[in-house]
Amino acid sequence: MKYEPVIGLEIHAQLRTRTKIFCGCSTAYGAAPNTHVCPVCLGMPGALPVLNRQAVDYAIRAATALGCEVQPVSVFARKNYFYPDLPKGYQISQYEQPLALGGGLDVVGGDTPHVGLTRIHMEEDAGKSLHEGFVDSSRRTYVDYNRGGVPLIEIVTEPDMRSGAGAAAFFSQLRDILVWLDVNDGNMEEGSLRCDANVSVRPVGQQRFGTKAEVKNVNSFRYVQKAIEYEIDRQIELLENGGTVVQETRLWDSATGRTMSMRSKEEAHDYRYFPEPDLPPLVVSDERVAAVRATMPELPEARRRRFVASYGLPDYDAGVLTQSVGLADYFEQVAATAGNVKAASNWVMGEVLRTLNDRGNTIEDVPLAPDALAGLIGLVDKGTISSSTAKDVFARMYDSGRSADDIVATDGLAQIGDESALLSIVRQVLESHGDAVAQYRAGKTATFGFLVGQVMKASKGKGNPKLINGILRRELDGAA
Ligand SMILES: [Zn+2]
Repeated sequence: MKYEPVIGLEIHAQLRTRTKIFCGCSTAYGAAPNTHVCPVCLGMPGALPVLNRQAVDYAIRAATALGCEVQPVSVFARKNYFYPDLPKGYQISQYEQPLALGGGLDVVGGDTPHVGLTRIHMEEDAGKSLHEGFVDSSRRTYVDYNRGGVPLIEIVTEPDMRSGAGAAAFFSQLRDILVWLDVNDGNMEEGSLRCDANVSVRPVGQQRFGTKAEVKNVNSFRYVQKAIEYEIDRQIELLENGGTVVQETRLWDSATGRTMSMRSKEEAHDYRYFPEPDLPPLVVSDERVAAVRATMPELPEARRRRFVASYGLPDYDAGVLTQSVGLADYFEQVAATAGNVKAASNWVMGEVLRTLNDRGNTIEDVPLAPDALAGLIGLVDKGTISSSTAKDVFARMYDSGRSADDIVATDGLAQIGDESALLSIVRQVLESHGDAVAQYRAGKTATFGFLVGQVMKASKGKGNPKLINGILRRELDGAA
């Protein structure tokens, strides 16, 4: 490889507020066009923006979790450009003084173990141009301003990544954290999370960066990887053929698997940024940051480590169980009630996840309450049912709302743990298998397993295996 790719990402994440960043309009997705609008988000003359407090708290939460330094004072600025989906003719963003600086994320897998962050700033989203689905679509473009003014954070990384796969791994893990923090819904199809990739290449060993192209608004991890890989190949081929890369904005076309030039990239001065005169500087006290921090859920990595340290779970279990807040909470509730941590882990990772996957559900959809599953684990631990019967009971209780106790009692699934009942079954089996008994007593001890199997069968699988073993051994050896 003669060239080294250099990749930085800019990720726009919609904050999960009910209302927009500067007005009281709803942020709900999917409403009829232009029904969630008011004079403020339509940019009417004289209408004044008021900053949404919850949006700021969410932004602080994301910044804190990502190790950024929340700035005591940040400033909203007008980013001026003309586009039909921007009714004011400018977007309210933050420029010279963003909300948070620095930070980073340790990435598991991929080729970049740590991706540094440059900054996180707050801004409003633009509306959406609609080009299709109208009688006269070929002549006209329609605009839906429902999304205009929806609160976003833009997370800007350092140019730390070196491959499409590494960038996709970072983006995917960043999404997991934002969703875990409950600041973003992670829904890339609805546009609540979007990624722009800055891609350049340079000869290996060269310090100076090559000219970059920006690929806009890629909305899946796979496409991020493919778009970057395409862009790297395109730029290397250009350079190899004596051409130069031009700084521009490009669009990813998932249908053709290519990026296409959209416009020459604006420089910052093209936007004529200046401080937003209608909003005071945003002052964030240490107390406010501390208060937000106090409401934050334990982060996945910390929770994973705690599961290993305090429950003694294997790394693997801890990794699977901390895939989402919901799953980790569910496991902890089962474990607390059942008092058997490893069994709780096995059931949640095994039958619970398998059933959810089979149905395309998530842990939020699970109909089986944690204490119900704990009840089932308790019956196995007490020896009331065998572990194979337990799987059957699990299937019967999953949707029904019936308790394990109830199912085992009414469906007659309890193990036979009564010595005298088992003894009579053992004696019947020994009587009808005289040959096997003789073989055993002649020293062919392997026959013992066969006899255990016969007793199990005679008990219809409900005999307690431990008891059967003991009784059988006593009967065979004692009478010898
Ligand atoms: Zn509004």
